[in-house]
Amino acid sequence: CGIVGYVGHRPALDVVLAGLRRLEYRGYDSAGVAVLSGDGLAVERKAGRLANLEARLDEVGRDGFAGTAGMGHTRWATHGAPVDRNSHPHRDTTGRVAVVHNGIIENFAALRAELEAAGVELSSDTDSETVAHLVARAYADGDTRGDLPASVRLVCRRLDGAFTLVVTHADVPDLIVAARRSSPLVVGIGDGETFVASDVAAFIEHTREAVELGQDQLVLITRDGYEVLDFHGEPAPAKPFTVDWDL
Ligand code: GLU
Repeated sequence: CGIVGYVGHRPALDVVLAGLRRLEYRGYDSAGVAVLSGDGLAVERKAGRLANLEARLDEVGRDGFAGTAGMGHTRWATHGAPVDRNSHPHRDTTGRVAVVHNGIIENFAALRAELEAAGVELSSDTDSETVAHLVARAYADGDTRGDLPASVRLVCRRLDGAFTLVVTHADVPDLIVAARRSSPLVVGIGDGETFVASDVAAFIEHTREAVELGQDQLVLITRDGYEVLDFHGEPAPAKPFTVDWDL
């Protein structure tokens, strides 16, 4: 339902939680966050209000969430009950890849069957989890090996349905890849920090310089900027604009 991603110089957890709070008006049934640090990926997710997620973070302690890149999600369940294990972010079996997703992957049953046939154990009932495993497998093998943007592009070409996706890999903690088809995705351009979100409300307190992605486009964000490509890796035209409404 709501998505925010961040690469910058501030504590990502604070930026992401504040962004999710700004998206609360859209309604949701669960929430989750992932933060990248030098040596891995910290994830916490919880059914219910954002307050439940924050209480959970206080319980486990926020020390593991010290990085300056991360993402968050508020879920409106379409596939799988609104329980903790179906909440986003979803990870692959190594825990190195994390994905948040808005929308519906129409061909998820075939993709799940393919993953299960390959011996992958899925840990949720969602359509979204398939994306984490598919990206991890593309990243581990073949032409897309070691190339996160190429891995995400390959997987996007295989998906039917509507999606806004944000994908991270612990191997490349300063990069976030986001993609869209028939579901909104905007980039926010700050000074030494870059945002992606399903709605400008998520980052408007930090920047009003935004870029709207077109259909079947993907964006790579780092703290220094962004690059928009199509699903075949060709540079793609995106639409810069200035957010002119007041908070
Ligand atoms: N289809 C996904 C799920 O049920 C994403 C729902 C959403 O857009 O929040 O987990």
